[in-house]
Amino acid sequence: MSEEVPALYLDEVQRVYSQGDSRLAILQQADLALWAGQSVALVAPSGAGKSTLLHLAGLLERPDQGEIYVNGKPTAHMDDRGRTSLRRLHIGFVYQFHHLLPEFTAQENVMLPQMIKGLPRAEARARADELLSYLGLQARVSHRPKELSGGEQQRVAIARAVANAPHILLADEPTGNLDPKTADHVFGIFTALVKATGLAALIATHNMELAAKMDRRVTLRDGLIVELP
Ligand code: ADP
Ligand code: MG
Repeated sequence: MSEEVPALYLDEVQRVYSQGDSRLAILQQADLALWAGQSVALVAPSGAGKSTLLHLAGLLERPDQGEIYVNGKPTAHMDDRGRTSLRRLHIGFVYQFHHLLPEFTAQENVMLPQMIKGLPRAEARARADELLSYLGLQARVSHRPKELSGGEQQRVAIARAVANAPHILLADEPTGNLDPKTADHVFGIFTALVKATGLAALIATHNMELAAKMDRRVTLRDGLIVELP
């Protein structure tokens, strides 16, 4: 990965939802550069388009206009296979609800994406244990999601998201479901991970107090991405 190009770069991205006669312009000419080792909070009210932006950034949706570069590589006109492989290689996701597989343990949930990538079981297990320990869950590796607290579930989801060492971490209101103290702890983990691994993280949140702890804050205004102080 070159240090000269952003991990993620949105260049004049447009996304408009049309329903009948109504036209909902979520993004008009949205620009955003996300750099390695940087955590950026995306702060905007419900319905502003945070999830839409994260889906575009994660190559789950295509822009109507504009380009999205992942490690300098343009993706808007790439075929679905190329986009999927780029996503698997470079991008990790954390959602508001953990989406862990209920019948698997914490360790197995973190092993799974690594095994899909082709890593041998023993290596995947070692990496899962290492990550879960780093996140303070060494005593919880064999617990199933329902045997974990909300904050613990979200930490397992973070471990799973970074299991394949992505360059970009996208999180959609990852603490929206947690009490303030736990949310604070989970946010601390994001910032620590970014510093420790050189990840680039874009984290949607409602919480200004938590956003204040990130390197940068951006919001959505009139279809643009605007930097906040
Ligand atoms: P946020 O995550 O900030 O709450 P979203 O990105 O989910 O906002 O949604 C932004 C707006 O776009 C909302 O008004 C929502 O109703 C609308 N929207 C989202 N997805 C679609 C879709 N697939 N078709 C039409 N409208 C959509
Ligand atoms: Mg949303």
